[in-house]
Amino acid sequence: MLLVVVVAVAMALLVAGRFFGTGPTFDEVVAFAQRGDLRAFPVPGSQATGIAGQAAPPVVPPATDQPPRNVILVVADGMGLGELSAASALIRGPAGGLAVESAPVVGLVRTWAGDALVTDSAAAASAMATGLKTPDGAVSTQADGSTPRTLFEAAAAAGMATGFVTTSGLADATPAAFLAHAASRDEYRTILEQLLSSDATVLIGGDWQRYPNALLQPDYLELVRNAESVAGARFTVVRDAAAVATAPAPLLALLPARPGSRSAHGPPLAESTRRALTLLGDPAAGFLLVVEHEETDEAAHDNDVDGVVAAMLELDEALRVILEYAAGRGDTLVVVAADHDTAGMAAAHGDFDDGIAELRWLNDGHLATWVPLFAFGPGAPRFAGVLDNTEIGRRLAELRGLEGLPPAS
Ligand SMILES: [Zn+2]
Repeated sequence: MLLVVVVAVAMALLVAGRFFGTGPTFDEVVAFAQRGDLRAFPVPGSQATGIAGQAAPPVVPPATDQPPRNVILVVADGMGLGELSAASALIRGPAGGLAVESAPVVGLVRTWAGDALVTDSAAAASAMATGLKTPDGAVSTQADGSTPRTLFEAAAAAGMATGFVTTSGLADATPAAFLAHAASRDEYRTILEQLLSSDATVLIGGDWQRYPNALLQPDYLELVRNAESVAGARFTVVRDAAAVATAPAPLLALLPARPGSRSAHGPPLAESTRRALTLLGDPAAGFLLVVEHEETDEAAHDNDVDGVVAAMLELDEALRVILEYAAGRGDTLVVVAADHDTAGMAAAHGDFDDGIAELRWLNDGHLATWVPLFAFGPGAPRFAGVLDNTEIGRRLAELRGLEGLPPAS
């Protein structure tokens, strides 16, 4: 049976690879499909063996048709349905219990890029930020070089406060697409220059000084080192995670990589997010906050089951902070969406007698599989059903009356 599945998957990928011009060899596909990782998971009725076990359900803001005042978009980088459902079982047990599972509104998102079926994070974030498809690798910039208005620009024009929190580098593709324009995600200095001159209230993310691609760009590293002299007139610039808890707004936190981490920077995402919510305060015109969690993508690229599970738990804890905040107010829309599926992790076997699950991967890159979306609070019903990733930005703009993005469908 396993062999049949392996061959079927291999043939499907080979056909797909031939059709779209790129793709793995037969041997590569078989090698991936035969790789399985075994992990214990919490079984009902037995002592929990998972890393977290059950948790109290989050307090959830109800979905209503009221217009929201504040908008919080959570981008879960690389969180495919396979990662999500496997991590749910491994963290909470087969019956689940991650915060997203309490969502009153669920959607599925098509993620294709402007020039390819499989998107990268830049094109996916650009679609969300501008409501328009862009080529893979482009940062809120069209193929003809034009730079459509982003959700952040529209929010600022409407007097809203804005913030971005990420565990990745602040010059990485997802924050770049919301906060900057560039023909390529690799233009780190150009991207960071735009962040340093931004009118955001709070920007918390990594300095990327250890990121391999950044090490090849001395002009970027020079700008990171000189951030205070460039942005210090407006921002309080902080360099260490502990300072985030007390630094005032406008805050620019350029944080070092966590010790031993593959890609994560700064404090736990729940702490950064809590600080961002405090610093954004309660502006009359509301605020737009985007929170990105990067490590699901990074771990999935490495086919690292434990890394995915740890990332999903960190994201879950941050989301509980956000939902508690939103539930206590009643005026805050929360949308949680993946930008793309990475590597197609899935539980292929799981026995309740021994509490062992077998995890498998489809590849080590991105996929065109639809990704999940969860919505809470006022305006949430606009995100039900199957939608294109461009509709995320368009519908957020529509609900908040922001101008300059294409109309929503
Ligand atoms: Zn990726």
